[in-house]
Amino acid sequence: PFSVDVVPQAPEDPLFGLMAAYREDTSDKKVDLGIGAYRDNNAKPWILPVVKKADEIIHKDPEVNHEYLPIAGLAQFTSASQKLIVSGDSPAIKEGRITSLQTVSGTGAVHLGALFLAKFYQKVYPKTALYMSNPTWANHHQIFSNVGLSLQSYPYWHPQTRALDFDGMKASLESAPDHSIILLHACAHNPTGVDPTPEQWSSIATIMKRKSHFPFFDCAYQGFASGDLAKDNFAIRHFIEQGFELLIAQSYAKNFGLYGERAGCFHFVAAPSSDAGERTKRVGSQLAILQRSEISNPPAYGARIASLVLNDKALFSEWEANLRTMSGRIIDMRKALRGKLEDLKTPGKWNHITDQIGMFSFTGLTEGQVAKLRADGHIYMTKNGRISMAGLNTKNVEYVATQIDKVVR
Ligand code: PLP
Repeated sequence: PFSVDVVPQAPEDPLFGLMAAYREDTSDKKVDLGIGAYRDNNAKPWILPVVKKADEIIHKDPEVNHEYLPIAGLAQFTSASQKLIVSGDSPAIKEGRITSLQTVSGTGAVHLGALFLAKFYQKVYPKTALYMSNPTWANHHQIFSNVGLSLQSYPYWHPQTRALDFDGMKASLESAPDHSIILLHACAHNPTGVDPTPEQWSSIATIMKRKSHFPFFDCAYQGFASGDLAKDNFAIRHFIEQGFELLIAQSYAKNFGLYGERAGCFHFVAAPSSDAGERTKRVGSQLAILQRSEISNPPAYGARIASLVLNDKALFSEWEANLRTMSGRIIDMRKALRGKLEDLKTPGKWNHITDQIGMFSFTGLTEGQVAKLRADGHIYMTKNGRISMAGLNTKNVEYVATQIDKVVR
């Protein structure tokens, strides 16, 4: 008979454990570099001004109610999300080759894609593995293994150069069996902050095409990385131009600051063919069944806000300005941290801090150094040496640099 004695205690989520330890620290010097959310220069959460505006418009709208959304979500939201993620002039939109469902933020989109692959892709290629970068967002491991996909990894981070292990990545894509599923971070790779250059993306696409690999893009930082929406979806656009069939998970947590509202979207893009439209519709019909059994229909509030902004020219421009504020502050903090470390003549090279992009930086600090920073400096980061740039501000960056200098020496 079943007894809960067979259920072992699960380990605590490392990131949430880190947050709890930070909260309990009473030092006035403490710095939280573990957080996966944007903070302003006063270390406070930032509601985007354009989101505040959209919020007020929605509250005044007498037509808004608390009814269920359709299974696939708010139609104005999913169509605007398509235009954003592949760019409005994409042939994939014109040819009706994209089907999109609103999801429970980016996590829900990754999960829906995982379910789809487990149910349909694996049927054709039962031995296929999904390849993810080493390292990757920790939750990827759980999401894909929970649906029964087998996992492999490709090299990504090169500890010596503190940059992309491009040769290792290419060799791994070459040696993976044909038709492998390849998970790619569209921009602002989490946790390393290291992205391929456009030329490197092009080589990756060439190998993947030759090997008939299946791309799955996870895009959690469009516009938040560089401040430029088109720069941050370059890889997705390039793969679509090359005629790939692919999946995309899109999150609005970071770029709209809608973390807790769980606004996201999943897209299936069919390869160009005379029956692409019909194939896309078929896939959409199956995705709707998967969605129904998982969440019935997605949450409305965050999608309403994003939809209002995405579909209004003036609000959209304001949003772009808000994106530049967030990405600009993060880029400034990268420059400041690198500058201070170089001023202090901290041993080692620190150019990777400004070469990297997005919220996170893999510093190259060792587990021992991370522990020392926490014990002596009240500075909190994940033990792999990843820091969240959003936790830095003009008031604490010098202190952080000085403490890093101490533990590195
Ligand atoms: N994918 C990556 C790579 C991420 O870094 C994140 C957030 O940290 C997500 C997906 C999903 O986030 P959310 O579910 O909050 O949209």
